[in-house]
Order: sequence, then C-alpha cells, then structure tokens
Amino acid sequence: MSYQAPTREQRFVLDHVAGIAELAADPRFAAAESDMVDAIVGGIGQFAQAQFAPLYRVGDTVGARLVDGQVRMPPGFADAYRAYVDNGWGTLSAPVEYGGQGLPVTLAAVALESLGGANMAFSLCPTLTVGAIEALVHHGSARQQATFLPHLSTGAWTGSMNLTEPQAGSDVGALRTTATPGGDGTWKIKGTKIFISFGDHDMTPNIVHLVLARTPDAPPGTKGISLFLVPKYRLDADGDPGALNDVRPVALEHKMGIHASPTCVLSFGDHDDCIGEMIGPLHGGMRAMFTMMNNARLNIGLQGVQAAEAATQKALAFAAERIQSGPIIRHPDVRRMLMRGRALAQAARALTYYAFGQLDRGSLGDEAAAARCALLTPLVKAYATDVGTEATSLGLQVHGGMGYIEETGAAQLYRDIRIAAIYEGTNGIQAADFVGRKLAGDGGAALNALIADIRAEATDEAALMALVDKVEAIARWSIAADGQDRLAGSYPLLTMTAVAVSGWLMARQHRIATAQRADTGEDAFLRAKQAVTRYYLDVIVPEAMGLAVAARAGAGALYALDDTDLAA
Ligand SMILES: Cc1cc2nc3c(=O)[nH]c(=O)nc-3n(C[C@H](O)[C@H](O)[C@H](O)COP(=O)(O)OP(=O)(O)OC[C@H]3O[C@@H](n4cnc5c(N)ncnc54)[C@H](O)[C@@H]3O)c2cc1C
Repeated sequence: MSYQAPTREQRFVLDHVAGIAELAADPRFAAAESDMVDAIVGGIGQFAQAQFAPLYRVGDTVGARLVDGQVRMPPGFADAYRAYVDNGWGTLSAPVEYGGQGLPVTLAAVALESLGGANMAFSLCPTLTVGAIEALVHHGSARQQATFLPHLSTGAWTGSMNLTEPQAGSDVGALRTTATPGGDGTWKIKGTKIFISFGDHDMTPNIVHLVLARTPDAPPGTKGISLFLVPKYRLDADGDPGALNDVRPVALEHKMGIHASPTCVLSFGDHDDCIGEMIGPLHGGMRAMFTMMNNARLNIGLQGVQAAEAATQKALAFAAERIQSGPIIRHPDVRRMLMRGRALAQAARALTYYAFGQLDRGSLGDEAAAARCALLTPLVKAYATDVGTEATSLGLQVHGGMGYIEETGAAQLYRDIRIAAIYEGTNGIQAADFVGRKLAGDGGAALNALIADIRAEATDEAALMALVDKVEAIARWSIAADGQDRLAGSYPLLTMTAVAVSGWLMARQHRIATAQRADTGEDAFLRAKQAVTRYYLDVIVPEAMGLAVAARAGAGALYALDDTDLAA
C-alpha cells in the first residue's frame, strides 16, 4: 500500500496542539485562516501522494549517481521537483518580500511531513533549503538577501549545509577548511567536506552551499569559525548562474538508506579558485550555523514522525491481509505492535508540531515561547527520531519474513530512518545539549514553567503526574550534579522528559476527542484518537518511569572498567 497523508490527524493536531487559530489571530499570520490551512494540508497531501510517493522505490533501487563529475538524480526526480517549485510548495513560510507566503513555519512543517512520509530521502532537499533561507534571513547582508533569497524562497535553487570533515564530526571546532581574503571582499575557500546531503544534483540551475571555514589567524575551536556562501555557479552581472565555481563532488557515499539523497564528498578550491562570500561577522560562523540548525533539528525530528506514520500504515495494511491461524491483525502481539506504532507516531507528531507552534510564537516576540522551543528542540530531534526507528522496526516485524525482503518496502523505511538519529547532531549530542545548555543553562527555569503547565492541565492523569514528578526531581539532581554524572544520565532523562511532554499533549487530545465524540456521535477518527491516546497514557507513559534509575545512576558504573578492560 502506498503512503496516504494523514490529513485529518494533521489538522486535529494543528488545531488542538499547535494552536494554529491563535497564530492566525496575529496580523503577521492572518493568511493562515481556516480555509487556507485546509487547502494546504489537503493540497500537499495529494501532491506528496501523486508526485513524491511513486518515486520512493526507484529512489532506493537506482539512487543518486555520480556521472562525469556531476550528480544525476534517479529518473522522475527532476520533474517532481519542478512540480514542487511550480506549485509553490517551497514558499509557504519563506519571507513575503522575497516571494514567499510568510505563513507560520508550523504549516511548512506539515508540508514537509507529507512530502517526507511519501519519500524521506527526497524531502531532505527542501529541508536543507529551509536551513539556508534561515541563515540568510537572520545573518545575511541586505545585498545577499536580495540576491539569493528570491531563488531559495521558491525552491528554484536549493541549499546545502557544509560542516562535516573527516576529523570534524560532532566536534565541529576541529574543522580545517580555510577561507582567505580574495582582496575584493570575496573569500577563497579550500578544503574537503564529507557527507554533504544534496551537495550536488541536477534538479535546479544553481545550488547555494553554506560552508563553515577558518580564516587566517582565527582562534582555535568553534570561536574561530566563520560562515561562507559558495554558489555552485557564480552569478553573472544580471544575478544569473554563470561560470562554474571551483567546487565539485568527488565521490558519493554508499549508504544503508536514503539512496535518493546524494551524500557528497565535496572538494572546494582544487584549483585555488573557489570564490565565496562571508555571511555575518568574522568568527560568527557558529552562531549563524545554530540559527540554521535549530530549525533543521525540528525538521529532522519530523522525519521520525514521517517514518513512524508511513511504517505503521504499511504494517496495518499488511496485517489486515495476511492470514496465519486467522488474520494476523487479530493476534494480540501483532495488535501490540500496531497500537504501539500508531501511539508513537501520534505522540511524536504532537511533540513536534507543538514545538513548531512555540517557534512561531517566538518569532512574534513571545520570549517564553522561544525559550520553550529551545528547551524542546533536543527532545524533538532525539525522541521523534528514536520513535521513527522503533516504529519502522515494529512495522517490519509485523510483516514477518516479508518485512526483511525488499519488495514490501518495510525494510526501506527501516533503513532510511536510521540516519535521523545520527545527522544534525547525534542524539547523544542532543541529550548533552538538553542537560547542559537547556537545563543547567537556565537553572531549570524553562523546564519548571513547562511542568507547571502540564500539572495545571492534566492533573487527573495519575501515571503522567507520577512521571512529571520524577522528571522534576531528576532534573533538579542533574542541574546540581557533577558534569560526568549529569552526562551519564542525559539520554534517559531526555527520553523521560520527552514522553512526559508528549503524554501531556496526548492527554489534551484525548480530552478533546472525548468531548467532540459526545457532541458529534460516531466518528471513526475520534474513536481511534481516543483509544490511541489512552494507550500512550496507560502503557508508554508508565514505561518511561523505568528510565529513572539510569537517569540518576551517575557515571560510576559506566567507568567501572577502564578503556582497555571494557573490551576484555
Ligand atoms: C547520510 C548522511 C548525511 C549527512 N548530511 C550532512 C550534511 O548535509 N552536512 C553536514 O555537514 N554533515 C552531514 N552529515 C554528517 C553528520 O552530521 C555527522 O555524521 C554527525 O554529526 C556525527 O559525526 P560523526 O559521523 O563524525 O560521528 P562522531 O562525532 O565521531 O560520533 C561517534 C559517536 O560518538 C558520540 N559522540 C561524539 N562526541 C560526543 C560528545 N561530545 N558527547 C557524547 N557523545 C559523543 C556520538 O554521539 C556518536 O555516537 C551526514 C551524515 C550522513 C551519514
């Protein structure tokens, strides 16, 4: 069965979790009125099903290829991408002054969810362009914005993010790519970046590479990094793509999944003629990059939602057809996997849309919402991608042996999503960010405000209240703990907190679905919403209590063996 965009569910979560109507009450987002939201949610769902979903398999089997120094996308991708641009789907949240529609990012997230549910590898391309737009909007000069944003806002040109080098992965500060002054205000870039998603392709007339590099005499580590814009084709006097810049893909990585996403080794300045321009101030690269990454991290969390949804849909269709001692959908253990998959997908969606809603409120000047979004970003990135991995594994298991055979597509979903816990800051790095910058950084203020809201709204959910009490106590311990002890418990604490926040949003949906059902009578969607949210609250929320021991065990047990004895 091919992917069906979950439009009713998306609309429900937009209304009751993200609070889209409240956002539309602000003049800046007035265009996001109800009919427009319906048109976007329904329209992108149909587009994704018609244009992106049919390319899912060919993207995997043919994949992107490097031919004569240029990446060739699999058949059909360039046409589908053109249709995406022509239909204006790239413009939703892009700035109005550069051809965008200026709508809430939350709505752009719904669009990305449907595109990625249909074809995760393909949707990574627009996801990266969003990051490039963000960096230019916040850090670009007026000229840079006027030159590049009109092309990026429509998706006519795409963006890429260039951080990683062989010796600089999580430790971005170890990067060695250099930028030297060209004497005319431009910079000459030299170095090799690895793992660059959509670092090259043949779908658009230009690509805007955002590159982190080190200027002469820059201080070591992250303090000495600056951000540069390097177009694949330099612009001529009219601002159109002209001569090829000195940047080229020298290899494509052979990957476990997302074969349609070209993961490039990019070489800059082989002929000492790679020309770029600085974005933002000298040595301001990390700040600018974080602007890109924060939004991108929420979008990668969204990939977990996409995969969990697509995998569970596929598993449900298979389970209804497959007969083994009766339809397998009736076996309790298969039921467990299907219910769990649905509950995880819905919880991750609620958490992610909620965070996007806070991001939009923050952009309207609501500082508490901005702080909440910052707190939630590592939770969304790590928990939603873990959910994606778990739900695709469950989906594969429901298929039995056929899940392990490529024809069903269950294996592809499982292979594709696995990267999401790794790129855009590994989930381990997210956990460190959560307990460090986000919790200890403000002494727990943002978390305490969130906990107060959860307690005020969901007092009658006993298991959830018990989990919230535990999260509060362990967070307090973590803030006061020694650095190693804090980091040792960071991942389990992140997961507990993410489940508590998701549980809160599931409890709200449960309450609303119950009330609406009482009003409207029989409705399959509301009945399913009630049952699935209840399952999350009654089964998955209590399960997270089991992480409490690991969350505050400290580092002692982890270092009981030294580095050598660990392998003995
Ligand atoms: C398919 C794919 C696409 C990618 N796309 C891009 C892209 O478009 N642009 C780009 O710049 N990069 C991209 N990357 C690179 C990606 O962001 C890195 O792989 C990732 O940041 C991890 O770096 P690393 O692979 O060097 O792992 P390492 O940093 O070596 O990490 C190895 C392990 O150690 C852990 N670890 C490392 N440091 C710490 C620490 N301080 N605390 C706790 N744990 C730690 C990690 O969590 C991980 O488990 C991509 C990678 C892949 C595979």
